[in-house]
Amino acid sequence: MNSLPVIVVGAGPVGLTSALALRAQGLPVVVLEAASAGRLRPGSRAIFYHRQTMQLWEDIRAGLGWEIANAGLVWSTKRTFWGETQVYERTYPFPPPGVMPASTNLGQVDAEKILFRHCTEAGVQFAWDQEVTDAKTSPEGVIVKTSSGKEWHSKYLVGTDGGRSVVRKQVGIELEGPRIEDAFVIVDVAEDVDDPIRPERLYYYEHPAVEKRNVLLVPFRNGIRADIQLRRGDDPKHFSDPEGVKRWLVRVLPEKYGDRVTWVSTYQFLQVVAKSFTDEHRRVVLAGEAAHLFAPFGARGLNSGVPDAIAAATGITQALNAANPQQAAAAIQEAADRRRDAALYNRNASNLALEHMRAHDWRTRLKRKASVMIAKYGSRAGSYLDSAPFGPRAAARQASDGIY
Ligand SMILES: Cc1cc2nc3c(=O)[nH]c(=O)nc-3n(C[C@H](O)[C@H](O)[C@H](O)COP(=O)(O)OP(=O)(O)OC[C@H]3O[C@@H](n4cnc5c(N)ncnc54)[C@H](O)[C@@H]3O)c2cc1C
Repeated sequence: MNSLPVIVVGAGPVGLTSALALRAQGLPVVVLEAASAGRLRPGSRAIFYHRQTMQLWEDIRAGLGWEIANAGLVWSTKRTFWGETQVYERTYPFPPPGVMPASTNLGQVDAEKILFRHCTEAGVQFAWDQEVTDAKTSPEGVIVKTSSGKEWHSKYLVGTDGGRSVVRKQVGIELEGPRIEDAFVIVDVAEDVDDPIRPERLYYYEHPAVEKRNVLLVPFRNGIRADIQLRRGDDPKHFSDPEGVKRWLVRVLPEKYGDRVTWVSTYQFLQVVAKSFTDEHRRVVLAGEAAHLFAPFGARGLNSGVPDAIAAATGITQALNAANPQQAAAAIQEAADRRRDAALYNRNASNLALEHMRAHDWRTRLKRKASVMIAKYGSRAGSYLDSAPFGPRAAARQASDGIY
């Protein structure tokens, strides 16, 4: 059987980005996807994309980054409250024409539709109903079997089949890290386009209307995400069944949104990173949630999956053009190690955000309380209260190439 240069497993946002990055390198690409063509992905996941992500999309496919930037909602004001008291507010100027916004907010389903269209226009081949059940690597390449009974051979494979990655398990790579005990209920509502709320991100510590639970409200194109942090001992069902959602939602948003719910999920987040992002033969590169899962505060999931995908494509291109097998293996290892370092940094940043929100440590509680007391005298304490639930913004230079 003829061996393809590279296969991508999984047509989620990271798989689609991998395929585009490989096409940008001039390689033919086949994406194997378990779902059927034209599937509508259930659920609501990413909404917040950093400028870095849009810029990377633009780099691999002219017009793509801008299309997603413009499709999303760009809000410029963020406010933070402690109970009823506002402790921080900042409004950013809108970027001048031709400058990417610092972020854009768009439902993941809509971002994926745009990515998919660009893939088809760029000549990416899709094989639907191809659930990978088996993947074996050797010094020569990869053999993949799918539930349809087909066998696929390739020199390299990008594993982007999500958090339950069969590819990762098949090549014997484990995820390491804890599950966070605290539960969050995340609700999306449809915006009322005739009478929308002000497009601003609001974070409430100890929201007085919901018995002092923390609440995050983030507007995105045609919707609003409302996120409530449950207390230990709370029954998640009480906050996530239809009546329960309505009960708390109408206390943190205008009443009409109680009848505009489009999606509800309860999460206990994993903070895990794969032991290695490549297999023993340096033929598979893991990217996105196949390689790492973080709590979404700070939006480090998809935003870090995109540079993973591009690093995988660059490493594979170098390996295919390498002068000898050692050089090829080194190119794959370098890409895998660089992105694993970035994932460890991101997990740490996400852990900091979670600890700040959960405040299980007395030092965190003290720092938060002290910041509230002095926030009215200067913006630094307020800025800390505003940004800490999302973790540090910048990447550690030593942890990656400055891209996280
Ligand atoms: C509530 C929530 C909010 C979030 N918000 C943000 C945010 O604002 N910003 C951000 O950057 N990230 C966010 N994330 C994270 C983001 O959603 C993920 O990082 C992203 O979906 C990962 O994409 P992926 O392509 O790696 O995996 P997935 O999206 O899971 O895609 C995997 C694909 O592989 C396919 N597949 C699975 N198994 C197989 C198989 N065996 N064979 C073939 N195909 C297979 C699946 O059908 C799917 O198409 C959020 C996550 C959650 C839960």
